[in-house]
Amino acid sequence: MKYNRCGKSGLLLPQISLGLWHNFGSVDNFENGENIVKTAFDKGITHFDLANNYGPVPGSAETNFGTILKNNFKGNLRDEIVISTKAGYTMWDGPYGDWGSRKYLLSSLDQSLKRMNLEYVDIFYSHRFDPETPLEETMMALDHAVRSGKALYAGISNYNPEQTREAIEILKRLGTPCLIHQVKYSMFVRTPEEGLLDVLEEKGVGCIAFSPLAQGLLTDKYLKGIPENSRASNPNGHLQLEEVSEEKIKKVIALNEIAQQSSQSLAQMALAWLLNDNRITSVLVGASSVSQLNNNIESLKNLEFSPVELEMIEGILY
Ligand code: NDP
Repeated sequence: MKYNRCGKSGLLLPQISLGLWHNFGSVDNFENGENIVKTAFDKGITHFDLANNYGPVPGSAETNFGTILKNNFKGNLRDEIVISTKAGYTMWDGPYGDWGSRKYLLSSLDQSLKRMNLEYVDIFYSHRFDPETPLEETMMALDHAVRSGKALYAGISNYNPEQTREAIEILKRLGTPCLIHQVKYSMFVRTPEEGLLDVLEEKGVGCIAFSPLAQGLLTDKYLKGIPENSRASNPNGHLQLEEVSEEKIKKVIALNEIAQQSSQSLAQMALAWLLNDNRITSVLVGASSVSQLNNNIESLKNLEFSPVELEMIEGILY
């Protein structure tokens, strides 16, 4: 594993990080999840990403991750891993379990720590921008989380370029720099190229790309229809059937051919394509099996693209 510096901070993150959004809830097979986390760490993946609402049921991914830590990461191993969590989407009933108020963020962080049985997380994120709450209030909550020792770093996710710039400036004034932005970015989702990556580079803030495989679309999984054991066919999965469109699959087939020509799987090429941009600190993958994770880690063996390959890829995507 190689480790990239997260923006201009002191923190190094693995080029591949593991997210626990799917496959780690109370409805999933615990042992499978535990094996994925153990394999990840053994291969040098030191960063694990959670959020208060990951499950289903919401919260259960954190509870399961807490058990995985207790079973496998004893003693000083806690110091060898970077754990993140977030608050910002709906978590509990009533007016205090959603969006970006100080009340929600700080009580949610306490709940996350309890579920994972941790004294602190490494990164605490505002999961989304809240148009109804002053940005100062949301950022002051992140600053407080860090000052109180419940988080080591602050991050933001799903903020647009203008909101990002403002959030970074507020956090800087407060004395808690913004470490990282967690953003949806893949060959199929190019919005970060419309200003966000420039803001992050200018401000020295790291960037971690979530759903880098477009939830599995950018793999060989859907080449011949929708298999039973796939996220698109899972009633708890967030990949909508209509996203697996004929038009998308045509592109997937063409991309797969390019990947094969360079002896890569499509998943490997899709991850390498993101990591080829040095503004990307880490790609945050999901996996439903150990073999998928291993396949993804192999992408690090070849991150190079010739100008011709890059041009061919752009030709397929646009
Ligand atoms: P990916 O785009 O990496 O999709 C992962 C899924 O793709 C797997 O669960 C599996 O699906 C399939 N897959 C993965 N590797 C392979 C492979 N080698 N071959 C075939 N299929 C493969 O990422 P996710 O959408 O899971 O997101 C990753 C993380 O990003 C989340 O866990 C979370 O931590 C974070 N995230 C953050 C968000 C935010 O708002 N900040 C929002 C969404 C995610 P299958 O089940 O079909 O096998």
